[in-house]
Amino acid sequence: MARKVITPAQICEQRLRWVHLDFHTSELIKDVGTEFDPDEFGSTLNKARVNLITLFGKCHHGMSYYPTKTGTMHPGLKFDLLGKQIKACRKYNIATPVYVSVKVDVHMGRQNLGWVNRTKDGRPWCPSPMEAAWYNMCMNNPEYYKYVEDQAVEIMKRYDPEGIWFDMCYPAPYPGCFCQRCLERMDKEGFDRNDDAKHWDMEYRIIREYTRELAKAVRRIKPNAMLFFNSRVTPNVRNELDVLTHLEIESLPTVPGWGYLFFPFMARMCRTLNRRYVGQTARFHKSWGDFGGLKTEDQLEYEMGAILGAGAGMGIGDQLHPRGKLNKGVYEIVGATYKKLEEREPWCVGAKAIAEIAVLMLPDKPDASVEIGSPWEGMLFNDSRFGAGAMLQELKHQWNVESTEGNFDQYKVLVLPDKGACGPALRKKLSAFLLKGGSVILSHEATLDKNTGKFACPGIGAKYVKPCEFIPSFMKLDTALGKGLVQTPWAMYEESSLVKKTAGGAKSMGNVCSSYFNRDYRHFCSHFQSPPDKTLPYPVAVQKGRVIYIYGSIFKGYHLHGYHAYKTIFANALNMLLKEPLIRANAPASMEIDVLKQKGRLVVHLVNFQPQRRHGIMEYIETIYPVRDVLLHIRTAKKPSRVYLAPQEIDIPFEMAGNCAVVSVPEVRGHQMVVLE
Ligand SMILES: [Zn+2]
Repeated sequence: MARKVITPAQICEQRLRWVHLDFHTSELIKDVGTEFDPDEFGSTLNKARVNLITLFGKCHHGMSYYPTKTGTMHPGLKFDLLGKQIKACRKYNIATPVYVSVKVDVHMGRQNLGWVNRTKDGRPWCPSPMEAAWYNMCMNNPEYYKYVEDQAVEIMKRYDPEGIWFDMCYPAPYPGCFCQRCLERMDKEGFDRNDDAKHWDMEYRIIREYTRELAKAVRRIKPNAMLFFNSRVTPNVRNELDVLTHLEIESLPTVPGWGYLFFPFMARMCRTLNRRYVGQTARFHKSWGDFGGLKTEDQLEYEMGAILGAGAGMGIGDQLHPRGKLNKGVYEIVGATYKKLEEREPWCVGAKAIAEIAVLMLPDKPDASVEIGSPWEGMLFNDSRFGAGAMLQELKHQWNVESTEGNFDQYKVLVLPDKGACGPALRKKLSAFLLKGGSVILSHEATLDKNTGKFACPGIGAKYVKPCEFIPSFMKLDTALGKGLVQTPWAMYEESSLVKKTAGGAKSMGNVCSSYFNRDYRHFCSHFQSPPDKTLPYPVAVQKGRVIYIYGSIFKGYHLHGYHAYKTIFANALNMLLKEPLIRANAPASMEIDVLKQKGRLVVHLVNFQPQRRHGIMEYIETIYPVRDVLLHIRTAKKPSRVYLAPQEIDIPFEMAGNCAVVSVPEVRGHQMVVLE
C-alpha cells in the first residue's frame, strides 16, 4: 500500500513523540543485530507510543547498517538491519528519517588522515594516539563530500524514508580548518592565513555549501523530504532555513554544560521562526552513549512539561544495543512518559506560544549578523542573554529570543542585555517600535558605539560618560527601582558604565556608589570587594518615556552570580513599562509558567521544577513533590466560559478581576495545564 504523502511540517505538527535511536557501534563488535526481531522492535516502539524514530544509516565509526554500495557495511552485521527496522516501523505507521554522520567518520579518517580537519597548530582534529575519540573530517573536500552524498542518495532511493538527519555539522575550531585544501582555498581567495575573520567566514561558507548541496541531492529524490542538519540551530539559524525543514534542539538538561536553561532559551528563539521545533533530550542519566544510564519517570515528566510548555514536540534519545534488541526497561520509562504526553496532545497540537517580551540578540558589530558558529557560541557562552532569559522565566513573563532581523510587532517590551551593537537599520526599527507604543530596557554598553561614545538606542535618556572604574561598584536605589528591597548599597559585581541623564524629561533612579579601591595586589580590604565609599553623581538607572537604561551588566551578573537583587531591579523596571502582564502567579521562582493559544483558547502550562543537588555539579529530579494552591491572574480578552484542568478535564472556579481571570490551581505535580475556553 502506498504511503500517504505528508509534508515535514505536517509530520512535526501532528507527531510529538519521537525517539532518536543512536547506533554508533564499534567495528570490533562481531554480533551486530543478532538479537534483532522485527516484530518485537516495531511493537515495543508502538507500545511506548513512539510515532517517529530516527534510525541509523551511517554512524560516527563510519559503519553502515545496510548492504551499501557507497560506504562500508559494519563487518559484524550480516543482514539489512536498516531495511528491516524501517519495515517493522511502517507496520505501525511510525515515521523513520535516517541518520547519516557527516563530519565524524572514524573509518574514513583513519584511512585518509589528510581529509581530517586541522587546527591552527597543524595537528589533525582527531584523537591523540592514547585517546578514544572521533575523527572530524573537513568538508572542503569534493571526494569526502561525494562519499557522504552518495550514501544519503543511496538510502533515499533504497528505502524512501521520510528524510535524512545529518549529524555533526559544526565548524572546525575557530578560526577554521588549516588542512592542505583549506590553505589552498585561502590562497585562491586571496587572503592571509592570519586573517581570522576572513578564515571564519570561509569556514561558514563551507558549511553553507555542503549543507545546500546535500539538501538538493536529497530533494531531487524526494522534494518533500524531512531535512535536518544538527549543530545548525545557532543564533544565526534564521539564515539557514533553506536546508532545515524543522528544528531539533539537542539539549540533555542533566548534562553539565547544557543544563536546564539551554532548551527553554533555544526554544524561545526557534519559535520566532517559521518552523516546527522539537526538544531533543535523552533517556540517559548522563550523556549520549550512557549504556545503563536511565532517567527516572519524574525527571522525564519535568522535561516533557518544559518541552510542551515551550510549544515544542518531544524527542527522547536512546542507543540501541549492538545486538539490535530494544531495552525493555528503557521503553517502559519512554512509554510512561509518552502516555502522559499523548493524554496532553489534544491541548498541545497546533498550539502557538504568546510572547510579550523579547530578549534581543544584538550582534557584536553594527548591522553584522549574529554569531555563525556552533549552538553553544553566543548562547551558552553569552551570559547576558542567558541571564535575561533566566530572569524572565523566573518572573513568569512570556518571552522570546529575537533576532534583530525579526518582527517586533507582537512584543510590548524589548530587552537589550548589557552589550552589542546597533546599526542604522536596527535603530530605525527600534524607533518604529517605540513610536507604536513599545518599550525598551537596556543596560551597560548595549547599543553603545565605542567610536563615538554614544548610545544608538533611540529615545534613551542617558548620555554615556565613561566605563565605571569600580568592579564591583554599589547601587543606592530609589524607592521605585528598589521596591521590595531594603535600603542598602547593593553590590554590582560586574562591569558597569557611568552615564548622565539627558535634558527633557529623563528621570534618574538611584545613584552609583564607589568602593575604596578595586581589589588587587596594591590594595585590598578583607576577604572580598572593598566597602562602599562615596555616592557618585551618576544614576543607577534612567527612565525617559518608554526607555529604561540600567548602568550595570545586571543580566550577565544574574547568570554568573544569581543575585536576587538584580532580578528585583529588572522586575521593577519591567513593571513600570508593562503594567498588566499576561500572567501573574504566586508560585515558586523555580516553577515555569507558559501561555499558549490553541483553537481560540488559552492553555496555561505549569511546570514544577524541583531538582536536587546530587553531586558537585549535577542537578537531578528523582521524585516530584507537588506544589499546592497556585494562584494565577491571567489576562484574557473576555470572560472565559469555562476554566478547567487538563488533561483531567476537571472544572475549577474562577473570578474576574478587571481584565484578568483569577484561578487557584489546587495541585501541580510535574506538569499541569489550565485551559481557559
Ligand atoms: Zn580543511
